Amino acid sequence: MRDWDELYHACRNCKSCNLYQTRKNVVIGMGNRDADVMLIGEAPGRQEESIGLPFAGAAGMLLDKMVASIGWSRDQVYIANVVKCHPPKNRDPLKAEVDACMNHLRHQVRFVKPKFIICLGRIAAQAVIDPNFLITAQRGQWFEKKGYLMTAIYHPSSLLRDESKKQPAWEDLKKIRKRYDQYLKTGQ
Ligand code: URA
Repeated sequence: MRDWDELYHACRNCKSCNLYQTRKNVVIGMGNRDADVMLIGEAPGRQEESIGLPFAGAAGMLLDKMVASIGWSRDQVYIANVVKCHPPKNRDPLKAEVDACMNHLRHQVRFVKPKFIICLGRIAAQAVIDPNFLITAQRGQWFEKKGYLMTAIYHPSSLLRDESKKQPAWEDLKKIRKRYDQYLKTGQ
């Protein structure tokens, strides 16, 4: 895979899992392709599928607020999902769907080459950081893999369902901002 055009072409024609049978649109990503920070969600919902962009609905509005709370904007970061097609009835993506889609995400990460990867929720953290990742116990911790600094925070949808997670999520966001400031200061 050489460039973004090839990646878009591959995703739009992908039949690596069964989701191609029900999809109306492939949702690949959005934002700054030279970003220092890449946010990775789970899979597009119905709204995202209909407009072809990630985090377009209620979870996306909260994500924008979370990002803004530490001084970033949606245009400054790059946003993608592990799975590029909408799983019917908003169910969690199956392992086979995640496995089939990982190659697209790998290319996307390679093209953006961010310093920081922030996984949104358990499914992204298990796909990207560690298959045994425990979101409640391990969120907010840093992991280094292939030169990328990775962490996970609660998924905005889970914050919408459970208000009690908002305070810990805010603490995680502050830690991320602190680590990012260190990077800006030292270049690493
Ligand atoms: N939830 C996700 O994980 N990704 C989206 O794009 C929308 C909702």
